[in-house]
Amino acid sequence: MAINLGDTPSEAAWREEVREFIKNEAPKELFGGGEGEGSLFGRMGAIKGWRDKLAGKGWIAPAWPKKYGGADMSVVDQFIMNEEFAEAGVPSNVGGFGVMMIGPTIIEHGTEDQKEEHLSRILKGEVIWCQGYSEPGAGSDLASLQTRAVRDGDDYVINGQKIWTTGAQYADWMYMLVRTDPDAPKHRGITYLLVDMKSPGVTVRPLTTLAGTQTFNEVFFEDVRVPVKNRVGEENRGWYVGTTTLDFERSSIGSAIGVRKALEKMIRDAKAGNTEVAFRNEAVRREFADRWIECEVAKMLSYRVVNMQVRGLIPNYEASMCKMYSSELGQRIGYLTMHMYGMHGNVRNRASMGYMQGVSSTIAGGTTEIQKGIIATRGLGLPRG
Ligand SMILES: Cc1cc2nc3c(=O)[nH]c(=O)nc-3n(C[C@H](O)[C@H](O)[C@H](O)COP(=O)(O)OP(=O)(O)OC[C@H]3O[C@@H](n4cnc5c(N)ncnc54)[C@H](O)[C@@H]3O)c2cc1C
Repeated sequence: MAINLGDTPSEAAWREEVREFIKNEAPKELFGGGEGEGSLFGRMGAIKGWRDKLAGKGWIAPAWPKKYGGADMSVVDQFIMNEEFAEAGVPSNVGGFGVMMIGPTIIEHGTEDQKEEHLSRILKGEVIWCQGYSEPGAGSDLASLQTRAVRDGDDYVINGQKIWTTGAQYADWMYMLVRTDPDAPKHRGITYLLVDMKSPGVTVRPLTTLAGTQTFNEVFFEDVRVPVKNRVGEENRGWYVGTTTLDFERSSIGSAIGVRKALEKMIRDAKAGNTEVAFRNEAVRREFADRWIECEVAKMLSYRVVNMQVRGLIPNYEASMCKMYSSELGQRIGYLTMHMYGMHGNVRNRASMGYMQGVSSTIAGGTTEIQKGIIATRGLGLPRG
Protein backbone atom coordinates (compact mmCIF):
# COMPACT_ATOMS: atom_id res chain seq x y z
CA MET A 1 0.00 0.00 0.00
CA ALA A 2 1.36 3.43 -0.96
CA ILE A 3 1.65 5.95 1.86
CA ASN A 4 1.05 9.57 0.98
CA LEU A 5 3.12 11.80 3.24
CA GLY A 6 2.18 14.94 1.32
CA ASP A 7 -0.18 17.70 2.48
CA THR A 8 -3.87 17.88 1.61
CA PRO A 9 -4.76 21.13 -0.26
CA SER A 10 -5.87 22.82 2.98
CA GLU A 11 -2.72 21.68 4.83
CA ALA A 12 -0.58 22.98 1.96
CA ALA A 13 -2.37 26.36 2.15
CA TRP A 14 -1.78 26.49 5.93
CA ARG A 15 1.91 25.60 5.45
CA GLU A 16 2.20 28.42 2.91
CA GLU A 17 0.56 30.89 5.30
CA VAL A 18 3.02 29.94 8.06
CA ARG A 19 6.00 30.24 5.65
CA GLU A 20 4.88 33.68 4.46
CA PHE A 21 4.44 34.82 8.04
CA ILE A 22 7.97 33.72 8.96
CA LYS A 23 9.42 35.33 5.83
CA ASN A 24 7.72 38.67 6.47
CA GLU A 25 7.67 38.91 10.24
CA ALA A 26 10.53 36.99 11.89
CA PRO A 27 13.35 39.27 13.11
CA LYS A 28 16.54 38.48 11.15
CA GLU A 29 18.57 37.85 14.34
CA LEU A 30 16.44 34.78 15.01
CA PHE A 31 17.55 32.77 12.01
CA GLY A 32 20.19 30.10 12.41
CA GLY A 33 18.87 28.79 15.76
CA GLY A 34 17.77 25.26 16.43
CA GLU A 35 21.13 23.78 17.42
CA GLY A 36 20.62 23.83 21.16
CA GLU A 37 19.01 25.70 24.00
CA GLY A 38 22.04 27.70 25.17
CA SER A 39 21.64 30.71 22.91
CA LEU A 40 18.03 31.29 23.92
CA PHE A 41 18.59 33.84 26.67
CA GLY A 42 21.21 35.65 24.59
CA ARG A 43 18.69 36.26 21.83
CA MET A 44 16.09 37.64 24.25
CA GLY A 45 15.51 40.90 22.36
CA ALA A 46 14.79 39.24 19.02
CA ILE A 47 12.68 36.61 20.74
CA LYS A 48 10.57 39.30 22.39
CA GLY A 49 9.92 40.87 18.96
CA TRP A 50 9.00 37.45 17.56
CA ARG A 51 6.78 36.75 20.55
CA ASP A 52 4.85 39.99 19.96
CA LYS A 53 4.30 39.04 16.31
CA LEU A 54 3.05 35.60 17.31
CA ALA A 55 0.80 37.12 19.96
CA GLY A 56 -0.69 39.41 17.30
CA LYS A 57 -1.72 36.30 15.35
CA GLY A 58 -2.96 34.46 18.43
CA TRP A 59 -0.26 31.81 17.87
CA ILE A 60 1.49 31.98 21.26
CA ALA A 61 -0.58 29.12 22.64
CA PRO A 62 -1.82 27.25 19.56
CA ALA A 63 -3.12 24.27 21.55
CA TRP A 64 -5.08 26.21 24.18
CA PRO A 65 -8.86 26.58 23.82
CA LYS A 66 -10.00 29.88 22.30
CA LYS A 67 -11.89 30.90 25.43
CA TYR A 68 -8.56 31.12 27.27
CA GLY A 69 -6.82 33.06 24.49
CA GLY A 70 -5.43 30.10 22.53
CA ALA A 71 -5.92 29.23 18.88
CA ASP A 72 -7.65 25.86 19.38
CA MET A 73 -5.46 24.64 16.53
CA SER A 74 -5.78 21.07 15.27
CA VAL A 75 -2.93 18.64 15.98
CA VAL A 76 -1.96 18.60 12.28
CA ASP A 77 -1.90 22.40 11.98
CA GLN A 78 0.24 22.66 15.12
CA PHE A 79 2.57 20.02 13.74
CA ILE A 80 2.91 21.85 10.41
CA MET A 81 3.55 25.13 12.22
CA ASN A 82 6.25 23.56 14.41
CA GLU A 83 7.76 21.86 11.36
CA GLU A 84 7.97 25.17 9.45
CA PHE A 85 9.35 27.05 12.47
CA ALA A 86 12.04 24.37 12.88
CA GLU A 87 12.84 24.48 9.13
CA ALA A 88 13.32 28.24 9.34
CA GLY A 89 15.30 27.98 12.60
CA VAL A 90 12.93 30.24 14.58
CA PRO A 91 11.72 29.30 18.08
CA SER A 92 8.28 27.75 18.34
CA ASN A 93 7.75 27.70 22.11
CA VAL A 94 8.44 31.33 22.98
CA GLY A 95 5.92 31.00 25.79
CA GLY A 96 8.29 28.52 27.51
CA PHE A 97 7.08 26.44 30.44
CA GLY A 98 4.16 28.86 30.91
CA VAL A 99 2.46 28.06 27.61
CA MET A 100 3.69 24.51 27.19
CA MET A 101 3.23 23.12 30.68
CA ILE A 102 1.60 25.12 33.45
CA GLY A 103 -1.02 26.91 31.31
CA PRO A 104 -2.59 23.63 30.08
CA THR A 105 -2.42 22.23 33.63
CA ILE A 106 -4.26 25.23 35.11
CA ILE A 107 -6.82 25.00 32.29
CA GLU A 108 -7.44 21.35 33.16
CA HIS A 109 -7.10 21.28 36.95
CA GLY A 110 -6.99 24.90 38.19
CA THR A 111 -9.61 26.95 40.04
CA GLU A 112 -11.39 29.86 38.34
CA ASP A 113 -9.27 32.25 40.47
CA GLN A 114 -6.06 30.57 39.29
CA LYS A 115 -7.19 30.83 35.65
CA GLU A 116 -8.04 34.50 36.18
CA GLU A 117 -4.73 35.26 37.87
CA HIS A 118 -2.34 33.37 35.59
CA LEU A 119 -3.57 32.55 32.09
CA SER A 120 -3.67 35.98 30.49
CA ARG A 121 -0.33 36.94 32.10
CA ILE A 122 1.25 33.80 30.61
CA LEU A 123 -0.12 34.68 27.19
CA LYS A 124 1.14 38.26 27.41
CA GLY A 125 4.60 37.05 28.41
CA GLU A 126 4.44 39.03 31.66
CA VAL A 127 5.64 36.13 33.78
CA ILE A 128 8.35 33.51 33.40
CA TRP A 129 7.72 30.07 34.90
CA CYS A 130 10.09 27.32 35.95
CA GLN A 131 9.51 23.66 36.77
CA GLY A 132 10.38 22.41 40.26
CA TYR A 133 10.18 18.63 39.92
CA SER A 134 13.69 17.10 40.18
CA GLU A 135 15.57 16.83 43.47
CA PRO A 136 19.06 15.57 44.32
CA GLY A 137 17.57 12.14 45.17
CA ALA A 138 14.61 12.19 42.78
CA GLY A 139 15.01 12.44 39.02
CA SER A 140 14.13 9.35 37.00
CA ASP A 141 12.26 8.11 40.06
CA LEU A 142 10.47 11.43 40.56
CA ALA A 143 7.85 10.01 42.93
CA SER A 144 10.50 9.61 45.64
CA LEU A 145 10.78 13.40 46.01
CA GLN A 146 11.28 14.62 49.60
CA THR A 147 10.68 18.40 49.60
CA ARG A 148 8.20 18.71 52.42
CA ALA A 149 5.13 20.94 52.71
CA VAL A 150 3.25 21.10 56.02
CA ARG A 151 -0.15 22.74 56.35
CA ASP A 152 -0.24 25.69 58.78
CA GLY A 153 -3.57 27.55 58.76
CA ASP A 154 -4.17 28.99 55.29
CA ASP A 155 -0.61 28.28 54.18
CA TYR A 156 1.70 25.41 53.34
CA VAL A 157 5.22 25.75 54.75
CA ILE A 158 7.85 24.32 52.41
CA ASN A 159 11.33 23.03 53.30
CA GLY A 160 13.67 21.21 50.94
CA GLN A 161 15.60 21.50 47.69
CA LYS A 162 15.00 21.26 43.95
CA ILE A 163 17.76 20.87 41.36
CA TRP A 164 18.36 21.24 37.59
CA THR A 165 15.63 23.91 37.55
CA THR A 166 15.90 25.48 34.10
CA GLY A 167 15.58 29.27 34.06
CA ALA A 168 14.86 29.57 37.83
CA GLN A 169 17.17 32.60 38.04
CA TYR A 170 14.82 34.47 35.65
CA ALA A 171 11.55 32.97 36.80
CA ASP A 172 8.72 34.83 38.57
CA TRP A 173 6.80 31.67 39.44
CA MET A 174 7.50 27.97 39.92
CA TYR A 175 5.08 25.07 39.62
CA MET A 176 6.34 22.37 41.91
CA LEU A 177 5.69 18.99 43.47
CA VAL A 178 5.99 18.66 47.26
CA ARG A 179 5.44 15.84 49.74
CA THR A 180 2.44 16.46 51.97
CA ASP A 181 1.92 12.94 53.33
CA PRO A 182 5.18 11.09 54.05
CA ASP A 183 3.30 8.00 55.32
CA ALA A 184 1.22 7.39 52.18
CA PRO A 185 2.46 5.22 49.25
CA LYS A 186 4.88 7.51 47.42
CA HIS A 187 2.66 8.54 44.47
CA ARG A 188 -0.23 9.34 46.82
CA GLY A 189 1.46 11.79 49.20
CA ILE A 190 2.41 14.47 46.66
CA THR A 191 0.78 17.89 46.15
CA TYR A 192 1.10 20.38 43.27
CA LEU A 193 1.75 24.02 44.24
CA LEU A 194 2.29 27.36 42.49
CA VAL A 195 5.03 29.35 44.22
CA ASP A 196 5.91 33.02 43.83
CA MET A 197 9.72 33.01 43.44
CA LYS A 198 9.92 36.26 45.45
CA SER A 199 8.55 34.52 48.56
CA PRO A 200 10.85 34.89 51.60
CA GLY A 201 12.99 31.76 52.08
CA VAL A 202 13.51 30.93 48.37
CA THR A 203 17.19 30.89 47.33
CA VAL A 204 18.29 30.27 43.73
CA ARG A 205 21.85 29.18 43.01
CA PRO A 206 22.84 28.85 39.32
CA LEU A 207 24.79 25.75 38.21
CA THR A 208 27.33 25.93 35.39
CA THR A 209 27.03 23.27 32.68
CA LEU A 210 30.06 21.68 31.01
CA ALA A 211 29.39 24.04 28.07
CA GLY A 212 30.00 26.97 30.45
CA THR A 213 26.39 28.17 30.34
CA GLN A 214 24.14 28.80 33.31
CA THR A 215 20.81 27.45 32.16
CA PHE A 216 19.77 25.55 35.27
CA ASN A 217 19.89 26.00 39.05
CA GLU A 218 19.57 24.62 42.54
CA VAL A 219 16.59 26.09 44.41
CA PHE A 220 16.42 25.96 48.22
CA PHE A 221 13.26 26.38 50.32
CA GLU A 222 13.49 27.42 53.93
CA ASP A 223 10.13 27.85 55.72
CA VAL A 224 8.59 29.24 52.53
CA ARG A 225 4.89 30.05 53.04
CA VAL A 226 2.57 29.37 50.13
CA PRO A 227 -1.17 30.12 50.39
CA VAL A 228 -3.40 27.04 50.17
CA LYS A 229 -5.25 28.78 47.32
CA ASN A 230 -2.11 28.22 45.21
CA ARG A 231 -2.62 24.46 45.29
CA VAL A 232 -3.63 22.93 41.94
CA GLY A 233 -5.98 19.98 42.39
CA GLU A 234 -6.52 18.20 45.68
CA GLU A 235 -3.99 17.69 48.45
CA ASN A 236 -2.02 14.44 47.95
CA ARG A 237 -3.30 14.13 44.34
CA GLY A 238 -0.49 16.24 42.86
CA TRP A 239 1.17 13.31 41.08
CA TYR A 240 -1.81 12.99 38.75
CA VAL A 241 -1.90 16.76 38.17
CA GLY A 242 1.86 16.77 37.56
CA THR A 243 1.78 14.05 34.95
CA THR A 244 -0.62 16.16 32.82
CA THR A 245 2.19 18.64 32.25
CA LEU A 246 4.48 15.97 30.84
CA ASP A 247 2.08 15.10 28.05
CA PHE A 248 2.52 17.98 25.59
CA GLU A 249 4.43 18.11 22.25
CA ARG A 250 5.41 14.48 22.07
CA SER A 251 6.35 14.27 18.39
CA SER A 252 9.84 15.84 18.83
CA ILE A 253 9.52 17.22 15.28
CA GLY A 254 11.51 20.32 16.27
CA SER A 255 14.52 18.27 17.30
CA ALA A 256 14.17 15.87 14.32
CA ILE A 257 14.45 18.83 11.95
CA GLY A 258 17.03 20.61 14.14
CA VAL A 259 19.47 17.70 13.82
CA ARG A 260 19.04 17.59 10.03
CA LYS A 261 19.73 21.33 9.79
CA ALA A 262 22.91 20.92 11.85
CA LEU A 263 23.97 18.18 9.41
CA GLU A 264 23.15 20.32 6.36
CA LYS A 265 25.32 23.11 7.71
CA MET A 266 28.17 20.68 8.27
CA ILE A 267 27.87 19.40 4.69
CA ARG A 268 27.96 22.98 3.34
CA ASP A 269 31.06 23.75 5.42
CA ALA A 270 32.77 20.51 4.39
CA LYS A 271 32.05 21.06 0.69
CA ALA A 272 33.38 24.61 0.93
CA GLY A 273 36.62 23.25 2.37
CA ASN A 274 36.06 24.93 5.77
CA THR A 275 36.71 21.77 7.75
CA GLU A 276 39.94 20.04 8.63
CA VAL A 277 38.83 16.61 7.41
CA ALA A 278 38.10 16.62 3.66
CA PHE A 279 34.61 15.80 2.44
CA ARG A 280 36.07 13.44 -0.20
CA ASN A 281 37.42 11.15 2.51
CA GLU A 282 35.39 8.01 1.82
CA ALA A 283 34.76 7.02 5.45
CA VAL A 284 33.48 10.51 6.15
CA ARG A 285 31.15 10.46 3.16
CA ARG A 286 29.68 7.17 4.35
CA GLU A 287 29.19 8.62 7.80
CA PHE A 288 27.36 11.61 6.34
CA ALA A 289 25.11 9.25 4.38
CA ASP A 290 24.31 7.24 7.52
CA ARG A 291 23.49 10.38 9.50
CA TRP A 292 21.31 11.69 6.66
CA ILE A 293 19.28 8.47 6.56
CA GLU A 294 18.95 8.60 10.35
CA CYS A 295 17.56 12.16 10.09
CA GLU A 296 14.86 10.83 7.78
CA VAL A 297 14.13 8.01 10.24
CA ALA A 298 13.78 10.58 13.06
CA LYS A 299 11.27 12.50 10.94
CA MET A 300 9.25 9.34 10.22
CA LEU A 301 9.13 8.48 13.92
CA SER A 302 7.74 11.98 14.56
CA TYR A 303 5.14 11.50 11.83
CA ARG A 304 4.06 8.29 13.52
CA VAL A 305 3.46 10.09 16.81
CA VAL A 306 1.49 12.92 15.26
CA ASN A 307 -0.53 10.42 13.24
CA MET A 308 -1.54 8.71 16.48
CA GLN A 309 -2.51 12.04 18.03
CA VAL A 310 -4.66 12.85 14.98
CA ARG A 311 -6.45 9.52 15.48
CA GLY A 312 -7.12 10.39 19.13
CA LEU A 313 -4.60 7.86 20.48
CA ILE A 314 -2.12 8.73 23.22
CA PRO A 315 1.47 8.05 22.11
CA ASN A 316 3.37 6.11 24.72
CA TYR A 317 6.49 4.09 23.84
CA GLU A 318 6.25 5.68 20.38
CA ALA A 319 7.04 9.10 21.93
CA SER A 320 9.93 7.49 23.86
CA MET A 321 11.33 6.16 20.57
CA CYS A 322 11.20 9.66 19.07
CA LYS A 323 12.84 11.33 22.06
CA MET A 324 15.58 8.73 22.40
CA TYR A 325 16.36 8.48 18.70
CA SER A 326 16.50 12.25 18.01
CA SER A 327 18.63 13.02 21.07
CA GLU A 328 21.13 10.22 20.38
CA LEU A 329 21.27 11.21 16.71
CA GLY A 330 22.00 14.80 17.77
CA GLN A 331 24.96 13.49 19.75
CA ARG A 332 26.24 11.43 16.80
CA ILE A 333 26.07 14.54 14.62
CA GLY A 334 27.89 16.43 17.39
CA TYR A 335 30.73 13.85 17.32
CA LEU A 336 30.90 14.03 13.52
CA THR A 337 31.08 17.82 13.66
CA MET A 338 33.96 17.75 16.12
CA HIS A 339 35.76 15.17 14.00
CA MET A 340 35.34 17.31 10.87
CA TYR A 341 36.69 20.45 12.53
CA GLY A 342 39.68 18.63 13.98
CA MET A 343 41.71 20.76 16.39
CA HIS A 344 39.52 23.80 15.64
CA GLY A 345 36.68 21.90 17.26
CA ASN A 346 38.34 22.51 20.61
CA VAL A 347 37.88 26.26 20.26
CA ARG A 348 34.70 27.53 21.88
CA ASN A 349 32.41 28.06 18.91
CA ARG A 350 29.00 27.03 17.69
CA ALA A 351 30.16 23.51 16.77
CA SER A 352 31.77 22.77 20.12
CA MET A 353 28.82 24.31 21.99
CA GLY A 354 26.42 22.05 20.07
CA TYR A 355 28.61 19.05 20.91
CA MET A 356 28.72 19.87 24.62
CA GLN A 357 25.07 20.82 24.94
CA GLY A 358 24.10 17.61 23.15
CA VAL A 359 25.33 15.67 26.18
CA SER A 360 22.36 16.82 28.27
CA SER A 361 19.76 15.89 25.64
CA THR A 362 19.82 12.20 26.60
CA ILE A 363 19.23 13.15 30.27
CA ALA A 364 16.73 16.04 30.18
CA GLY A 365 13.06 15.11 29.91
CA GLY A 366 13.73 11.46 30.82
CA THR A 367 17.04 9.66 30.29
CA THR A 368 17.76 7.29 27.40
CA GLU A 369 17.82 4.36 29.84
CA ILE A 370 14.33 5.25 31.07
CA GLN A 371 13.07 5.53 27.45
CA LYS A 372 14.61 2.11 26.71
CA GLY A 373 12.79 0.66 29.71
CA ILE A 374 9.47 2.02 28.39
CA ILE A 375 10.15 0.70 24.87
CA ALA A 376 11.13 -2.71 26.23
CA THR A 377 8.18 -3.19 28.59
CA ARG A 378 5.33 -1.32 26.90
CA GLY A 379 6.49 -1.58 23.28
CA LEU A 380 8.03 -5.05 23.13
CA GLY A 381 6.10 -6.54 26.05
CA LEU A 382 9.28 -7.71 27.78
CA PRO A 383 9.13 -8.39 31.54
CA ARG A 384 10.44 -5.77 33.96
CA GLY A 385 14.09 -6.30 34.92
C1 LIG B 1 19.36 20.35 30.44
C2 LIG B 1 18.47 19.86 31.55
C3 LIG B 1 17.40 20.63 31.96
C4 LIG B 1 16.58 20.19 33.01
N1 LIG B 1 15.55 21.01 33.42
C5 LIG B 1 14.78 20.61 34.47
C6 LIG B 1 13.75 21.48 34.98
O1 LIG B 1 13.54 22.60 34.48
N2 LIG B 1 13.03 21.06 36.05
C7 LIG B 1 13.21 19.83 36.62
O2 LIG B 1 12.48 19.51 37.54
N3 LIG B 1 14.19 19.00 36.18
C8 LIG B 1 14.97 19.36 35.12
N4 LIG B 1 15.99 18.54 34.66
C9 LIG B 1 16.25 17.27 35.39
C10 LIG B 1 15.93 16.02 34.61
O3 LIG B 1 14.54 15.82 34.56
C11 LIG B 1 16.67 14.86 35.31
O4 LIG B 1 18.06 15.12 35.17
C12 LIG B 1 16.34 13.53 34.72
O5 LIG B 1 15.02 13.18 34.98
C13 LIG B 1 17.26 12.43 35.29
O6 LIG B 1 17.27 12.45 36.67
P1 LIG B 1 18.63 12.51 37.52
O7 LIG B 1 19.49 13.59 36.94
O8 LIG B 1 18.26 12.60 38.95
O9 LIG B 1 19.36 11.13 37.23
P2 LIG B 1 19.04 9.74 37.94
O10 LIG B 1 17.59 9.48 37.88
O11 LIG B 1 19.72 9.71 39.28
O12 LIG B 1 19.78 8.74 36.97
C14 LIG B 1 21.18 8.48 37.04
C15 LIG B 1 21.52 7.40 36.02
O13 LIG B 1 20.82 6.17 36.36
C16 LIG B 1 20.02 5.74 35.26
N5 LIG B 1 18.76 5.17 35.76
C17 LIG B 1 17.95 5.71 36.71
N6 LIG B 1 16.86 4.92 36.89
C18 LIG B 1 16.98 3.89 36.00
C19 LIG B 1 16.16 2.76 35.67
N7 LIG B 1 14.97 2.56 36.28
N8 LIG B 1 16.59 1.93 34.70
C20 LIG B 1 17.77 2.13 34.06
N9 LIG B 1 18.59 3.18 34.33
C21 LIG B 1 18.20 4.05 35.28
C22 LIG B 1 19.74 7.00 34.46
O14 LIG B 1 19.43 6.71 33.11
C23 LIG B 1 21.06 7.75 34.60
O15 LIG B 1 22.00 7.29 33.67
C24 LIG B 1 16.82 18.94 33.63
C25 LIG B 1 17.91 18.16 33.21
C26 LIG B 1 18.74 18.61 32.19
C27 LIG B 1 19.90 17.76 31.78
